[in-house]
Amino acid sequence: MISTTNLSRLCIHTITTKPLALPEAIAAYREIGAAGITVWRDALAPLGIAESARRLAGSGLRVVSLCRGGFFPGASAADRQKAIDENRRIIDEAAAIGAPLIVLVCGAVPGMPLAEGRKQIGDAISQLAPYAAERNIKLGIEPLHPMYAGDRSAINTLGQANDIVERIGAKNIGITIDVYHLWWDERLETEVARAGKAGSIFSFHVCDWRCPMRDLLNDRALMGQGVIDIRQIRNWVEAAGFNGMIEVEIFSTEWWAADQKKFLQKIKTAYLEHA
Ligand code: ZN
Repeated sequence: MISTTNLSRLCIHTITTKPLALPEAIAAYREIGAAGITVWRDALAPLGIAESARRLAGSGLRVVSLCRGGFFPGASAADRQKAIDENRRIIDEAAAIGAPLIVLVCGAVPGMPLAEGRKQIGDAISQLAPYAAERNIKLGIEPLHPMYAGDRSAINTLGQANDIVERIGAKNIGITIDVYHLWWDERLETEVARAGKAGSIFSFHVCDWRCPMRDLLNDRALMGQGVIDIRQIRNWVEAAGFNGMIEVEIFSTEWWAADQKKFLQKIKTAYLEHA
């Protein structure tokens, strides 16, 4: 049952309120009654890892995940190794701030065949799985909408992500479902159920798809202001066994220019009505 008054599963991504520094974000999320925070790495930079970790530990918010790792494919072995090393550092950061999960934007190299990109992504994640497991960190593959297949991710459907998870077969490797990237896929319900059976649904991101969209990256809409049936997808995800946080992740030049406290009030209302 989806509760319409309860905020105990509301989590906000720091990128959603990009103008707020981490301590301000923590205070503002607490003020609206949110329960969780997903931290983007840029939000850690000003205070550094240790001080950010201290603030998060005392925040009263659950740290849901760290965004983001990934960007694995590379034209040369040296490039691919660089990505592995960087992702090891990100795993250490997640452990330091008490984030149990890293969301992976898997990467794509313009001009590289997508199948090759996917192979390199699978190889890299499989290499990182034991390092992450030793530190109790899960890695969630987040498929991106196909409009990003050229340069951001060769993983564009939940089916492709499930295939990689299945092939690697490690308990700490799973998927992140973001309605913005996956709402159009006719196989979504089936693949959500498949991930549920595998116990690999690690996290769930919401926002909305504005029509017409003015910018491919930074024009995500508040829930209810676009065309995604978010509740339908949430119902599938929960029927598949997921009961974690509902994470609000909105990149929006328009909302970043607004008063962030007023924006958070709107997020709260939109969450209760549409997510
Ligand atoms: Zn996302």
